Amino acid sequence: MATLTKVPFVDLKAQRDSIQAEVDAAVLNVFDKGDFILGAAVEKFEADYAAYIGAKHAIGVGTGLAAIEIALRAYGVGPGDEVITAANTFIATVLAITAVGATPVFVDMDGERYTIDPAAISAAITPKTRAIVPVHLYGQTADLDGVLAVARRHNLLVIEDAAQAHGAKYRGTRVGTFGHAAAFSFYPAKNLGAYGDGGMITTNDDAAAAKMRLLGNYGQRVKYYHSITGTNSRLDTAQAAVLGVKLPRLDGWNAARRRHASAYSGRLKNIVHTPAPAADAEHIFHLYVIETERRDARREALKQRGVDTGIHYPVPAHLQECVAYLGYKLGTFPVTEAAAGRILSLPMYAELSDAQIDYVCDAVADVLK
Ligand SMILES: *Cc1c(COP(=O)(O)O)cnc(C)c1O
Repeated sequence: MATLTKVPFVDLKAQRDSIQAEVDAAVLNVFDKGDFILGAAVEKFEADYAAYIGAKHAIGVGTGLAAIEIALRAYGVGPGDEVITAANTFIATVLAITAVGATPVFVDMDGERYTIDPAAISAAITPKTRAIVPVHLYGQTADLDGVLAVARRHNLLVIEDAAQAHGAKYRGTRVGTFGHAAAFSFYPAKNLGAYGDGGMITTNDDAAAAKMRLLGNYGQRVKYYHSITGTNSRLDTAQAAVLGVKLPRLDGWNAARRRHASAYSGRLKNIVHTPAPAADAEHIFHLYVIETERRDARREALKQRGVDTGIHYPVPAHLQECVAYLGYKLGTFPVTEAAAGRILSLPMYAELSDAQIDYVCDAVADVLK
């Protein structure tokens, strides 16, 4: 076997090679049939995904961002409303809130879990608070008991951002039905990824599901009769066909990620700060994130050794330029801000080999000594 000289951060090709014939046949079938928009593969994948999550409804949409936005819109969240979310999230969570005209209110994270701190949510509630968007970041579920307790106390809507958590479990149940609705992304590098953009909303709420379906399809129940001002955000039939081939393999891929995470942690826990999966959750390691001093220099040193890494995310949401108008200052969320300077995501995907894991661990050990 050839000696390794580098390990990529993700390797979509490796997964493609393992399912190529099946995916190609499924996509060609859509092309031959020609039902490109809301075709049979969409309906089938929605039913399969709902069953997988254990939700009554699954509504395919164009992107993960649109999934959050449409969920908020379906419940009437809009101008004048405040929506609480974690300061340590990908910008899409924030842009969904601003897209409906609501005001994002950020709170700090739990430093062990990397998800929203329920005590901080309580402290941020005002008479204008309408909703909480907990993010199951890195594949680790939020402290849902904590979040849901605050939501119940204040009668708030909960929309889960599950874009990084397809199949992750909280107390034995997959995320996606703990809140009023949940949003998933099928961006190619997610644990369940399409060959392009895609998203899904899951919910047990019949009325909201019907409204979400309308909102994503021009507000029309019957073609050319528009009952509400919707938008065009639908899951492509060809993408649904790809996802339909992948879904039965998701649990196996997530299990592989969990094994790789344990292998990393076994080798690295005595030399660097490794992730601490919560006892009440089944972490699916969308990302494997360590923390280290002198992060940027070490990241560069790893790159020199052929190890690609990522930073998720270098600038916390509350300090992004696009939301400067909200007036948040550095120092507001110490846990999130400290982590932003220390976090480093190591290569993580189901197809990682033992040799690749060893290579990464050797490089990390070497760079940190
Ligand atoms: C990927 C992601 C999204 C957005 O998904 P897109 O499909 O890229 O629009 C939202 N929230 C989080 C936490 C994500 O990681």
